[in-house]
Amino acid sequence: MNYLRRRLSDSTFISNLPNGYMTDLQRPDPAQPPPPASSTPAKSPTAAPTPPATSPAPEKKPQPAQSTGAGFFSSITNVVKQTAASAGLVEQTQVTTPKKFKILLVIDEPQQEWAKLFRGKKVHGDYDIKVEQAEFNDINVVAHANGTCIVNMQALRNGTKVVRSFKPDFVLIRQHAFSMTQNEDFRNMIIGLQYGGVPSINSLESIYNLCDKPWAFAQLINTCRKLGVDKFPLIEQTFYPNYKEMVSMPSFPVVVKIGHAHSGIGKVKVDNHTKFQDIASVVALTQTYSTTEPLIDSKYDIRIQKIGTDYKAYMRTSISGNWKTNTGSAMLEQVAMTDRYKVWVDTCSEIFGGLEICAVKAIHGKDGRDYITEVVGSSMPLVGEHQNEDRQLIADLVLAKMNQIASNEANAPQRPTTVGPKGGHNSRRHQEWCWPPPSRLPAVHPGLPGQLSEPGKSIAVSK
Ligand code: ATP
Repeated sequence: MNYLRRRLSDSTFISNLPNGYMTDLQRPDPAQPPPPASSTPAKSPTAAPTPPATSPAPEKKPQPAQSTGAGFFSSITNVVKQTAASAGLVEQTQVTTPKKFKILLVIDEPQQEWAKLFRGKKVHGDYDIKVEQAEFNDINVVAHANGTCIVNMQALRNGTKVVRSFKPDFVLIRQHAFSMTQNEDFRNMIIGLQYGGVPSINSLESIYNLCDKPWAFAQLINTCRKLGVDKFPLIEQTFYPNYKEMVSMPSFPVVVKIGHAHSGIGKVKVDNHTKFQDIASVVALTQTYSTTEPLIDSKYDIRIQKIGTDYKAYMRTSISGNWKTNTGSAMLEQVAMTDRYKVWVDTCSEIFGGLEICAVKAIHGKDGRDYITEVVGSSMPLVGEHQNEDRQLIADLVLAKMNQIASNEANAPQRPTTVGPKGGHNSRRHQEWCWPPPSRLPAVHPGLPGQLSEPGKSIAVSK
């Protein structure tokens, strides 16, 4: 401000100002209009209020030309105040009303109703939980380097398409983030959520890492080396980065698995080298990798799942006779959890920094041996009679993690947000932590047809 005072007492500076600006500067600021009756207190970017659509338009009177000068000066003053504040020269006091809820985003099919599992639950004894549920297809993410992450979610309300925007505090991902089938690549959403620092179950890092089956299989190879093939009987597998290398002949019959897909898609049984060449020519069109495994003469499939500390084992036997037991009809039975199975799933739950929810898939051959084929994460479909119990276990895990994060936040030493002129180092550190300064972030998402809405409020976009 001293600088401004000096500049304004400088006659060269004054003489260069356009007519009328100096008189405007000396005039007191025009009184601010009272806030509309429906306006809410200032909130964090999570829930910037939508301007009331129905409030009567204020009567517009022609403004004298000079008033633009006042606006010009007040905006200069604001810019000076902002710049000084971000440089740590003046005190910044943010008046925010702490919100009394946490937003949990669940990525899942609409048939699975997650909201009811969190009804009446509190985080840290204090915060209600608002569940926003959508499929990957219906969300979009904008993330900023300062840790702000806004999710824009499409929903249907009485036949009208609406967009809701909110900042999730936590995300549970129950859908596959990636499949090579059409329109099923949502890795950009995972990147956005990770960029915005949204905590998640499983971790976003592990979800991203599980997006390519051979990448995940590489971890299983390490585990097999560590534990030995007796303890961790991993199936033999060969990886081809593209069709060009599919010339060396495996011993037949083999299963060729093309790219990354689910539900048996892209898995082909191949009996001889002529068919193998045919499949290689199909892989050439897909522009992706493939793997081959010996075809196991299978008795049943095994699935060992772990949700937190709960373990369950299942066997699945084909009824329709399809070599893929996940295709056609099959019988599913829960079987006893053995120590051997526990070792498999416990070691798999340690990969990629830890998987809170995971399952190991294996094939039990007619030769009496087991062959581990894959590990899957939090997107694994629930199976069997205990699906409701499993869903409740997942909800409990999410709640425990949200509680842990909230208590860590409550116990964390406050970072200085106000610094005086002497706080040179601190102020610099603050800028590094928080860039760009929140005040420079757009209040309105540029790609959105409306402003951020409070959870529960929606913006209509189209019929
Ligand atoms: P899902 O989405 O159900 O996990 P997926 O697309 O990942 O399936 P896989 O599990 O690899 O596909 O294979 C589908 C089915 O094919 C398995 O459940 C199993 O019954 C059978 N299968 C897979 N690999 C082999 C193999 N090497 N030998 C014999 N059968 C196999």
